[in-house]
Amino acid sequence: MFLQGKTALVTGSTSGIGLGIAKAFAAEGANVIINGFGDADAIEAERAALEQASGAKAAYDGADLTQPEAIADMFARAEADMGGVDILVNNAGTQFVSPVEDFPPEKWDLILALNLSSAFHTIRHAVPAMRRKGWGRIIGTASAHSLVASPFKSAYVAAKHGLAGLTKSVALEVASAGITVNCVSPGYVWTPLVENQIPDTMKARGLTREQVINDVLLAGQPTKQFVTVEQVAALVLFLARNEAANITGANLSVDGGWTAA
Ligand code: NAD
Repeated sequence: MFLQGKTALVTGSTSGIGLGIAKAFAAEGANVIINGFGDADAIEAERAALEQASGAKAAYDGADLTQPEAIADMFARAEADMGGVDILVNNAGTQFVSPVEDFPPEKWDLILALNLSSAFHTIRHAVPAMRRKGWGRIIGTASAHSLVASPFKSAYVAAKHGLAGLTKSVALEVASAGITVNCVSPGYVWTPLVENQIPDTMKARGLTREQVINDVLLAGQPTKQFVTVEQVAALVLFLARNEAANITGANLSVDGGWTAA
């Protein structure tokens, strides 16, 4: 249990990859703060299960990360209830698929706010306490789309490239303070985010559901397998270890070979 006494905040962790990351941290004894939207009873059940697994504290914070002031409030609560955040995982994200000329400006604003700007705000609130403690881990869930593009995902690709750049810049700023800053870049992971974009991709490209899965989603993934939530979580967990102290400013792919092509 190498994370006993540490507190991890994982944004967007009521489902999918974020929940998997929260479970991995809890299994190592960390206090965990989960965040995101969803059914209140289901979230409470996940929170209680995390506490059971860790033997430490688990809290839920429903901050809407598109709102900078809600992020500030979340950090104030984390400080009061958990003594601050030692491990910050910027995972919350959303997707919208459309040709650029039809892309609704409000969807562009939402994706940039959630997938990129929220990480700027969480990082600026997290760094002072990490500097004081001389230890910290900041990890972003970027994407293969932080390295390469696909059509019809202009906002998502722009935001994820931005998150990778933010990661590198902050890593240099805090490198001598015991804080590492990295991002992980999954290929397609079978989660609600991927499932929900299938109808729009069918419409945008005029394809069937099976064609979207095999000819679009898995087309560029040489392993021809979806990445699993547990595989992403295991990589994130490794970055929290002391053995990872010299991995910083990195963008680590877990994409079945997609970006090697
Ligand atoms: P998901 O839809 O299962 O989870 C998204 C989470 O974000 C949920 O907990 C949701 O409630 C939360 N969320 C949404 N809007 C929010 C808001 N305004 N404020 C706070 N929380 C909010 O998605 P996922 O597939 O687990 O994706 C997690 C991250 O991984 C995203 O950043 C996504 O871009 C990235 N990613 C996913 C894949 C994939 O194939 N699934 C691949 C690469 C990267």
